Amino acid sequence: MIDYHIHTNLCGHAIGEMADYVKEAISSDLEEIGFNDHLPLNGDSGKEQNLSMAFDELPHYVSEVMNLRKSYPEIRIKLGIEADFTPGTESYTRELLTRYDFDYVMGSVHYIGEWAFDHPGERKEWDSRDVDSVYKEYFELLRKSARTSLFDIIGHCDLVKKFGNRPVGEISKDLDDTAKVFKECGVAIEINTSGLRKPVSEIYPSCEILQVYRKYDVPIVFGSDAHTPDDVGRDFDKAVSLARQAGYQEFVTFENRNMKHQKLDDSKSIVSSQ
Ligand SMILES: [Zn+2]
Ligand SMILES: [Zn+2]
Repeated sequence: MIDYHIHTNLCGHAIGEMADYVKEAISSDLEEIGFNDHLPLNGDSGKEQNLSMAFDELPHYVSEVMNLRKSYPEIRIKLGIEADFTPGTESYTRELLTRYDFDYVMGSVHYIGEWAFDHPGERKEWDSRDVDSVYKEYFELLRKSARTSLFDIIGHCDLVKKFGNRPVGEISKDLDDTAKVFKECGVAIEINTSGLRKPVSEIYPSCEILQVYRKYDVPIVFGSDAHTPDDVGRDFDKAVSLARQAGYQEFVTFENRNMKHQKLDDSKSIVSSQ
């Protein structure tokens, strides 16, 4: 099994040494992990706000992953990065991504306009928003993010539900359109177990949404969104049964930004809930 969503203390809101995440992955019998810390936000304000690593920490992040690869040959360690998608920052992101040989780039929508809709500090803003419009804008941003061709994987693709805000109207057309665009653009999506640790208490995405992605044959990866070593591989038994329930028999891995398919059954270990 793989865990492609592991943060580091460089982003300012995760704890533990990078080696501790690797050790936890080895003891959980994972075959492959990917560090996926936050790419420096445009303008370098990310570090001040504890949202991402600083611009000048990126080389250190990359070399640390390379060092860990040498120190722990018993597990495959991939160099990933979680890049925010906000319209207008594409050329900044594109330029930064060309500097290193990432195995994969995960594109994540955390902002609608200036609003960090999943940030606990900005949760109050939900009270003054129309939930259906928020969902519409969110799905539109997901489609835009895939169309940039900057990303291999789209992260936690129903994050908008994090605090339990649910749409009243139908979202099936938006979902269908989004899944079609993802398929056309060749991106994978992430089954992210961190939602189980959030107010919504549900994996991202829900089974209902995952079934739509399955219908359009959009590939999947698995991620815990670990911000502490203990969370590596957390609840992956639930993630795998969700994938199977939605009809998936395969997941994918990445190397040098090339996608490889792997049967779910071949995966030697599935980490159980802790
Ligand atoms: Zn994220
Ligand atoms: Zn993350």
